[in-house]
Amino acid sequence: MVEQNIFLNTQKEFIKIANLLKLEPGIVEELKEPHRLIKFQIPVLMDKGKVRVFTGFRCQHSNVLGPYKGGIRFSETVSGQSVKALSMLMTWKCALVDIPFGGAKGGVAVNPLELNKQELEQLSRGYVRKVFSYIGPEKDIPAPDINTNPQIMAWMVDEYSKLKGEDSPAAFTGKPFKFWGLKGREEATGYGGVVILKKLQETFGFKPKETTLAIQGFGNVGSNFARFAFQEGYKIIALSEEDGGIYVLRGLDPEQTLQCREEKGKIAGCYCVGSVCDANFGKQITNEQLLEMKVDVLVPAAVECVITKENASKIKAKYIIEMANSPVTSEAEAILRDKGIISLPDILSNAGGVTVSYFEWLQSKAKKRWQKKEVLNKLSKTLEKAFDEVWGLSKKENINLRKAAYLLAIDRVAKAMKK
Ligand code: NAD
Repeated sequence: MVEQNIFLNTQKEFIKIANLLKLEPGIVEELKEPHRLIKFQIPVLMDKGKVRVFTGFRCQHSNVLGPYKGGIRFSETVSGQSVKALSMLMTWKCALVDIPFGGAKGGVAVNPLELNKQELEQLSRGYVRKVFSYIGPEKDIPAPDINTNPQIMAWMVDEYSKLKGEDSPAAFTGKPFKFWGLKGREEATGYGGVVILKKLQETFGFKPKETTLAIQGFGNVGSNFARFAFQEGYKIIALSEEDGGIYVLRGLDPEQTLQCREEKGKIAGCYCVGSVCDANFGKQITNEQLLEMKVDVLVPAAVECVITKENASKIKAKYIIEMANSPVTSEAEAILRDKGIISLPDILSNAGGVTVSYFEWLQSKAKKRWQKKEVLNKLSKTLEKAFDEVWGLSKKENINLRKAAYLLAIDRVAKAMKK
């Protein structure tokens, strides 16, 4: 039921904006559902000799602006409804940052921690065999997402190239550097989030040193956001992962926390790294506590729907930078708005990953290496422009930032359809 709501909510948001834009009924009909949702079974021969069968999905929402584009996640929460919702968000995200891609999303319903490396490789290759005829450099280009990484992309691109009978690095992004991966791709989403944070800082004139941050999720996105925000001088006072988090009053160093997590396997016990353990300075917290902390900026960078109508009234942050996809439900958004909290929408804040994926796709097609500095510079410019457009429209029309971002993105897709 909750899963069903994720798609229905995303669809409802689209229809609201479509009505504001007075889109033709035919355009609304086409965009309110994905072009296709593929569901399939992937058998994996487990180490103990038994076969386990996992359910996989690939959803392709729209290719009006260019080939379908979107990540593949390995998580028990993956369902048809969730990939449908996320594929639609990808269409809006690519349109907002003005890159020539459409929207897609995929995944496998699996707890990857239950699989060893060989089983994970079989699952990844099995996924590609099932979607082979639907994907490709000019059709649909998958990338990493929750619990998938460059190694998984390397297995996938290798399987794709074998089936195709030719080396096809442009069929996937988020690949390891030696397989035509792009320098800067791994940190791009977190880096992009900090570009947005800096634009917010410029707009409201706050000082990084006096600005506190709480970040939920310390995976690819959360940890890179933390690293770049720390480098900019922001004070990170709380971090959390699935199994809980830490609060450090005087601020923590993300690099040291990463090292500690490597050693301990989780961040829960890492609040006293680099200092003497003292309950006055640090303590363990739950994910719920992190969301409700008194901070300037709250950064949900883990999973969707963590801020709901149940906890929205308890959120004390002044700003929210949505690094996860759909971390705020629409009911919660109304409550946050009434409280005067400014939310930077996911399709803007976390668009760094797909923007740099576009650069990686260009690099893989041309087989010509890009330098990291060039990648991050171009990324900053793209996101700064998108922020200015969203901010400008929100001021001009006196509407919130999400509405402005959706209006810009959906209008671009609809105009392309008309053409
Ligand atoms: P990841 O697998 O690297 O990390 C996920 C993190 O979230 C981990 O720290 C995990 O412990 C934590 N987590 C999982 N469930 C949680 C829960 N219930 N409560 C609190 N923490 C929880 O994934 P990622 O690539 O960092 O992606 C994080 C989010 O960002 C996802 O919503 C993803 O769709 C979105 N996103 C990722 C990218 C990208 O480039 N990786 C791009 C755009 C958006």
